Amino acid sequence: MSNKKFETNAIRTQLKRTENLEHSVPLYLTSSFVFEDAEDMRASFAEEKERNIYSRYSNPNTNEFVEKVCQMEGAEQGFAFASGMAAVFSTLAALLDSGDHVVSAASIFGSTHSLFNNFFPKWNISHSYFDVHNLDSIDDLIQPNTKLIYAETPTNPGVDVLDLEELGQIAKKHNVLLVIDNCFASPYLQQPIKFGADLVIHSGTKLMDGQGRVLAGITVGKRELMDKVYRFSRITGPALSPFNAWVLSKSLETLAIRVDRHCDNALKLAEFLEGHDQVNWVKYPFLKSHPKYEVAKKQMKAGGCVVAFEVKGGLEAGRTFFDSIKLLSLSANLGDSRSIVTHPASTTHSKLSVEERAASGITEGMVRISVGLEHIDDIIADISQALG
Ligand SMILES: *Cc1c(COP(=O)(O)O)cnc(C)c1O
Repeated sequence: MSNKKFETNAIRTQLKRTENLEHSVPLYLTSSFVFEDAEDMRASFAEEKERNIYSRYSNPNTNEFVEKVCQMEGAEQGFAFASGMAAVFSTLAALLDSGDHVVSAASIFGSTHSLFNNFFPKWNISHSYFDVHNLDSIDDLIQPNTKLIYAETPTNPGVDVLDLEELGQIAKKHNVLLVIDNCFASPYLQQPIKFGADLVIHSGTKLMDGQGRVLAGITVGKRELMDKVYRFSRITGPALSPFNAWVLSKSLETLAIRVDRHCDNALKLAEFLEGHDQVNWVKYPFLKSHPKYEVAKKQMKAGGCVVAFEVKGGLEAGRTFFDSIKLLSLSANLGDSRSIVTHPASTTHSKLSVEERAASGITEGMVRISVGLEHIDDIIADISQALG
């Protein structure tokens, strides 16, 4: 592990130069790699040497991307996936056996929710959900066959904050794994391994790329667990493409500086909305009014790019607000340089029932804003006119 600072590692962790002495890392668009001779081939397949064989297993560009994220998260090993959901699915499928049970936060990404509800039961993997406002309730949900605790913080789209240190202690007490989807914070703002997480998952599609260009996912963490994830994934084939890995590796060079600005803008917007007479409530981890403000301060460097709020007047007023937006994008993504407004109840979380949405902290009139890198004055001006 390097003893240099985050920003330096993000830039200087890179592949060894080729004989061309290129400054910026080149793109290795190759599906396979060649062997010197029969002995090299045998030894490579026997895993007696660490080398690239086939890009479904590893590739120089994905290796570089993985190495950077391991540095950022303080992790031993990682594997890069074609999307965040490929990372979530492959990680859990690699670790869980038929008959296992998962204790998951009720407020998780919509597709992860669907995975637990609609697909894992096919393989006899069951789950219980805990209320993110009551971590004490986890103790009673743990069963003899519980293998892991799964959570996200801050949550999507409710922007609730879960105490990672507490989750780490609960997992340790029950001798189960702790798996954290750290996508909303990015490795720059929060490193769950420090608080006891065994594995950390990211959708690289969000803040990591940060410019809305590629889909990607990554899981990093303890070596023996990542080895299981790797064995499963090199067979099932969810690997990230070298091109997308190359794009992401470049994106990580600017992660710190981008996320700093995202957070500055988001806090300013949250403060503006908090004083607005057309707004029922605002939620942002670094607003003093956030119920978990102290926890957020303890475990995060800044509040992240997502602000949630509710427009006065319910669903109808919400619709008028969306139709009045001029500059910001109506889209389902987040963590992009372009600010995005989303209506979770009719988009990302539309597959959930009203009750499930309520349990995830999603009201029908709730708006989620992923605050981008445009000038804050222009972001506020657009939202202000749409609220008017
Ligand atoms: C977007 C997202 C995912 C899924 O990532 P994809 O790259 O879209 O597959 C998982 N978890 C969270 C918290 C997300 O925001």
